[in-house]
Amino acid sequence: MTTVRKFDKKCAICTETSPQSIMTSTCTLGYPDLDLRPAEMQRSSMFAWLQECPHCGYVAGDIEQSQVKVSLDFLKSDEYLTCEGHDFKSDLAKRFYRHHLISKANNIHDSEFFSLLHCAWVCDDNDDDLAVGIRKLALKSIDKVDAKNDDEMDNLKIIKADLLRRSLQFDELVEEFKDVFFEDKIKNEIINFQLELAVKKDSACYSIEDVPTKVTVTLNGELHKKLNLIANLKRVSLADVIEEMLSEKADETDMDELMKNYYSNL
Ligand SMILES: [Zn+2]
Repeated sequence: MTTVRKFDKKCAICTETSPQSIMTSTCTLGYPDLDLRPAEMQRSSMFAWLQECPHCGYVAGDIEQSQVKVSLDFLKSDEYLTCEGHDFKSDLAKRFYRHHLISKANNIHDSEFFSLLHCAWVCDDNDDDLAVGIRKLALKSIDKVDAKNDDEMDNLKIIKADLLRRSLQFDELVEEFKDVFFEDKIKNEIINFQLELAVKKDSACYSIEDVPTKVTVTLNGELHKKLNLIANLKRVSLADVIEEMLSEKADETDMDELMKNYYSNL
């Protein structure tokens, strides 16, 4: 479960003190969304991901730390106060957008991008139509994120595919991802699912649990003969026999083991 406690924090910009929510623990149970948004409980802990000083409006992961250059003039600017004219339904979306603005002004590209992605998630939660526009904006900064390793680079591609689809850019998704190939089977299945949804012009939210998994079976000569024999005996198709054998197997399958089990159950 998620545990949140209140602590007094002294703002690094205006030096005023305010109580701030700090998450001391959380967990996830279930599959993330296709843009890797975590499942519950972490999903509902976004209110504690950033702190906001109620005196000057400074937003940071920890407002006592100032690793960025922010002036009080910047925090009082129209651009900052109005979120560049985005009239969000929720204050939490504004908080993430302001963090995006501070990050952008300081060339911190990963939080410039991820603040927008998180802002879009908050918009989703509040049925805020600005979610589409914020995803389009996020796409402008995703290529600036400096991935630390291959996994992070793959994850950014996975997120980008979902951002394109959920911002209704179906043709762009197909064009950019039709020839993308990962070493990881599940990542390829996620992209194939995204391409199928794009063709259907489906912009809804899906989780990785919704991704159809494909089973590949290779039959050698002897096994093929035996399965054909079973199919003839049962007067069903070869595909039906294989499907019945695999019915409780979702992924890579040892056919010899299955054959033994199958024969013993005949
Ligand atoms: Zn402050």
